[in-house]
Amino acid sequence: MIAPRAASYDAVIVGGGHNGLAAAAYLGRAGWSCLVLERRDHLGGAAVSERAFDGFDARLSRYAYLVSLLPRQIIDELGLRVRLVRRSVVSYTPDPRAGAMSGLLICADEHATGAAFGRSGAGDGERRAWFAFHQALAGFARRVFPTLTEPLRSRAELRRIAADDELWETIVELPLGVGLQRIFADDLVRGVLLTDGLIGTFAAAGDDHLRQNRCFLLHVIGGGTGAWDVPVGGMGAISDALRDAALAAGAELRTGSEVTAIGDGEVRFQHGDGGAQRSVGARRRILANVAPAELDRLRGRRPTQAAPQGAQLKVNLLLARLPRLRDALVAPEQAFSGTFHVNETAAQLQAAYDEAAVGRIPALAPCDAYCHTLSDRSILGPQLAASSAQTMTLFALHMPTQLFAAEPERARAAALQATLRSLDSVLAEPIEDCILRGADGAPCIEARTPLDLERELRLPGGNIFHRDLAWPFAEDPDEVGRWGVETDDPAILLCGAGARRGGGVSAIPGRNAAMAALAGA
Ligand SMILES: Cc1cc2nc3c(=O)[nH]c(=O)nc-3n(C[C@H](O)[C@H](O)[C@H](O)COP(=O)(O)OP(=O)(O)OC[C@H]3O[C@@H](n4cnc5c(N)ncnc54)[C@H](O)[C@@H]3O)c2cc1C
Repeated sequence: MIAPRAASYDAVIVGGGHNGLAAAAYLGRAGWSCLVLERRDHLGGAAVSERAFDGFDARLSRYAYLVSLLPRQIIDELGLRVRLVRRSVVSYTPDPRAGAMSGLLICADEHATGAAFGRSGAGDGERRAWFAFHQALAGFARRVFPTLTEPLRSRAELRRIAADDELWETIVELPLGVGLQRIFADDLVRGVLLTDGLIGTFAAAGDDHLRQNRCFLLHVIGGGTGAWDVPVGGMGAISDALRDAALAAGAELRTGSEVTAIGDGEVRFQHGDGGAQRSVGARRRILANVAPAELDRLRGRRPTQAAPQGAQLKVNLLLARLPRLRDALVAPEQAFSGTFHVNETAAQLQAAYDEAAVGRIPALAPCDAYCHTLSDRSILGPQLAASSAQTMTLFALHMPTQLFAAEPERARAAALQATLRSLDSVLAEPIEDCILRGADGAPCIEARTPLDLERELRLPGGNIFHRDLAWPFAEDPDEVGRWGVETDDPAILLCGAGARRGGGVSAIPGRNAAMAALAGA
């Protein structure tokens, strides 16, 4: 039975992810009454810190883990109390051609990186190409990133702002693999760069659809520098700060409230399992923090886009200590504090893609590893913090949704095994020997497939960006000057990752939806 409409608000926000909270904070500060409805029992969506292992006081960034795209502008406008730590090591990549006995260490410090190129055997030409490319990228990022919080430009206008035709060709016009191949000769160097285009995106480097290019673009412009920082307190600290901003702005936040239908200025939801259906009115706008496919479902419409799919396995580990590396020239504390690329040369990425494309879990799964606790031990309780314990995240690429469809449990176990085997191939000891065990003897390890993410977070197909990423410019003349959050119903706006210029922990689509709502008030 549907109860009579209980109340109405200027805006009802469907989903309490970090973007929904950002939208509520901006609208609340502009004097709008806002209600946020979140189906889970806590806020933050994929940007949360959680105790993943019983008996261990470690609050892991369970899903998203590094921050690049959250603009200083939003931090300042909302007065967010967040602290981001810059990593001194950007990445480390063991070289499989040398049996992982050596590798390439990219540091924030250019001299250290230059020396590492010398040791890696990639050659002087590659070193020069690396620095020239990154110098150009830095200018590109500095010019393009600020436009993400402004009304949309046309493609031609953004190209003019980017002011680097050569780089624009590499990132926006040519398949990423083709563009990078024109600049870099070394397979390992190309692989390091390609990972930015393949995180959460099932594509081959040379594909014409350019999904890999859009993903790369998102990963290299954040903050106007492309640097990926560690959120102190874990990713939950970002959502907590946005929650506090929304509450301070007067927004009402309700968890355990699953929205079941949207339409005609009305949002229906169910509070708690088996609770009565309720209805609430939205006088001005409904903002959807949910994925576009989920919004279609809630509006009772056919899907307006191809079904999204994810492409990753996310693994969280709690370690008693760091593992030793095969490469004796790099300390594990250094290698794991940046993004540790495991079996991610361009050729290895292509081989893994080819295997996954024919339905096989990649035998030597390419993955990124990273230890948050090397930069921030505040996520550990006092006992763990005083020990040699570390958290480790593994993010395996080319694990598309369809690999898990037929036998989800068996495929998850196989994918986890392939990922750990891949990590072991660059270690001097099995990672298993370093993993903490609970009172029942179970190892502190959890793995999330795209299907798990779909179930837990309502990410359609397990796509970590809600849908395939879009270009950050208007693709249709009508879009110029708009915010990239509009739907075919002027009363409904997207305010989550599925908007143009969404994807990642950025709060940008939340802010942009609020700007669009206020502009059309
Ligand atoms: C495993 C993983 C790793 C990632 N790593 C990074 C990273 O390191 N850095 C980075 O920048 N980005 C990363 N991302 C991407 C980033 O986390 C997301 O793009 C971002 O969190 C999206 O935020 P959002 O608020 O738009 O949506 P979400 O975080 O998806 O939040 C949407 C909210 O809506 C709720 N909801 C859904 N349906 C309903 C309904 N019917 N009724 C009520 N509520 C509903 C959900 O429960 C959820 O809380 C990662 C994502 C994943 C999954």
